[in-house]
Amino acid sequence: MTKNAISDHLKQIHQKIRQACLKAQRPEESVSLVAVSKFHPIDSVKEALEAGQRLFGENRVQEAAEKFPLLRKDWPDLRLHIIGGLQTNKALEACRLADVIETLDRPALSEALDKAAQKLGRLPDLLIQVNTGDEPQKSGIARDDADQFIEASMKHFGPSIKGLMAIPPVHEPSGPHFRLLAEMARRHGLETVSMGMSADFEAAIAEGATMVRVGSAIFGTRPVKEPHQV
Ligand SMILES: *Cc1c(COP(=O)(O)O)cnc(C)c1O
Repeated sequence: MTKNAISDHLKQIHQKIRQACLKAQRPEESVSLVAVSKFHPIDSVKEALEAGQRLFGENRVQEAAEKFPLLRKDWPDLRLHIIGGLQTNKALEACRLADVIETLDRPALSEALDKAAQKLGRLPDLLIQVNTGDEPQKSGIARDDADQFIEASMKHFGPSIKGLMAIPPVHEPSGPHFRLLAEMARRHGLETVSMGMSADFEAAIAEGATMVRVGSAIFGTRPVKEPHQV
């Protein structure tokens, strides 16, 4: 990409977030932009940091570990979200690296995060991923089990549970999925609703997203084909 492209894209996204908030009669500060840098090189992340972006999302723990500890030295206020499905054997590393894990979705992972937190003496903030489309290939707690899992997780982790996250099915209108997730969060008194990507973040804001996860609209198309979902 040409020089300053990332900075320009960030400005455009912020402008669109501002407009979507205005339209929804919500304060602009009610929506945070998570810049999804998966598969993009560290220099692209630096460019975003230099443009003022501080909040980033990575899918894979391994990739996050290669990029972000280095960057934190120069940008101690950056925040990293793990947004990809998490294997239990990656829980320790994820707890070490992340400020937020957006993908708590099953009891076995709760246990693994517990153990990791005890070992490290720190636990990131947590979002519960809901598989609103009940897609077999996608991570996230099944829709029918979500209320119970959310309740149990809130009891278990207390205020570390901040909210919910979802990735609607690619080939369906996302509106109903956004509505369902926002309603579920409301029902449980949870404030954070992470939903909306490059193609639909404005619609997500209209439905109550407080975090949008935008990748390609900031960093360009991803350099390698993704091995899984989305
Ligand atoms: C890749 C990814 C995104 C960003 O997708 P874009 O369409 O590039 O904006 C958001 N959320 C998750 C969970 C992702 O894996």
